[in-house]
Amino acid sequence: DRPPRIHRKFTFLSDGDGASSSPIRVMQWNILAQALGEGLDSFIKCPMEALSWSRRKYLILEEILTYRPHILCLQEVDHYYDTLQPVLSGLGYSSNFCPKPWSPCLDVEGNNGPDGCALFFDQSRFECLDSVSIRLSAMRIPTNQVAVVTMLRCRSTGRYLCVAVTHLKARSGWEWLRSAQGSDLLRQLQNLVQKHPAGPMGAPLSDIPLLVCGDFNAVPTEEVYRRFAASPLGLNSAYKKLSHDGLTEPEYTTWKIRPTGECCSTLDYIWYSQDSLRVDSVLDMPTEEQIGPNRLPSFSYPSDHLSLVCDLSFKEKE
Ligand code: NDP
Ligand code: CA
Repeated sequence: DRPPRIHRKFTFLSDGDGASSSPIRVMQWNILAQALGEGLDSFIKCPMEALSWSRRKYLILEEILTYRPHILCLQEVDHYYDTLQPVLSGLGYSSNFCPKPWSPCLDVEGNNGPDGCALFFDQSRFECLDSVSIRLSAMRIPTNQVAVVTMLRCRSTGRYLCVAVTHLKARSGWEWLRSAQGSDLLRQLQNLVQKHPAGPMGAPLSDIPLLVCGDFNAVPTEEVYRRFAASPLGLNSAYKKLSHDGLTEPEYTTWKIRPTGECCSTLDYIWYSQDSLRVDSVLDMPTEEQIGPNRLPSFSYPSDHLSLVCDLSFKEKE
């Protein structure tokens, strides 16, 4: 006896030459670390029972399995080894996890270990060529934020796809640090993509499509966002495609109420190489009414961040 799940619909985009028959489904989601939700977040309008792991784990798995993404990028994972990895492995996913060096979860009594970023992919669709964990630096000084970068090869088309998941430093006042971390990630991605041996056809490596999913903790006007939008990697943000002009980010990807007030903002993104990938469809954001007056998390949704889901296709090579 809990409220029904939030029902969301895909918006199909008509740009390009029609949707492909087998797009790649990608999910980006900050699932809310169990230790942070119960111990540090102060979601004052969310009942403690709704925050229990025994309830939340089913809602998290239900959300993932509703959409069955081929690529699943998660932040604030503090139940990787005991829940997400074993359950999703049984469903055909392979994965890599990188904990934060000094996770704030460790300050919470009864914690389940550090939180971190996890990257899952459907083994029937992709083979993993390489995966690295990266500690993001700012002005060459290592920070508490990380990324997982995995080089995949599509089993049916043979095409390569480089996928990264990250979670940048939170809170206001740290815009400069997010910008530095984002620049470090962009530079490391460029290096990884260039260092990787060329494909069987000797394709130039700048042709390897890139996907960067993350909780950037940055609104679209922030420097780190502008750096991603303007980088030489040719990245575009998939959720802009939901807007009428195709150029505007959604109004929110997270919506919560803390003692300091209501926080409704866009912080999460799916960046993709616009020269080699096309967005076929995007999962709508729930309406304010669907989210409800007490916002997130709630008995019907387990995180304060909404999942971002889109279908992408490789563009035909010229
Ligand atoms: P961040 O500032 O990046 O935030 C950590 C988490 O807090 C995020 O998951 C974030 O969620 C959440 N958060 C954001 N805003 C709030 C808020 N207003 N109230 C509660 N939670 C919020 O943290 P860092 O990674 O920089 O880690 C900082 C913590 O790490 C310190 O507080 C300390 O506990 C620990 N630490 C310990 C060290 C040691 O030597 N032992 C060294 C360094 C850090 P979201 O992204 O969803 O906004
Ligand atoms: Ca959080």
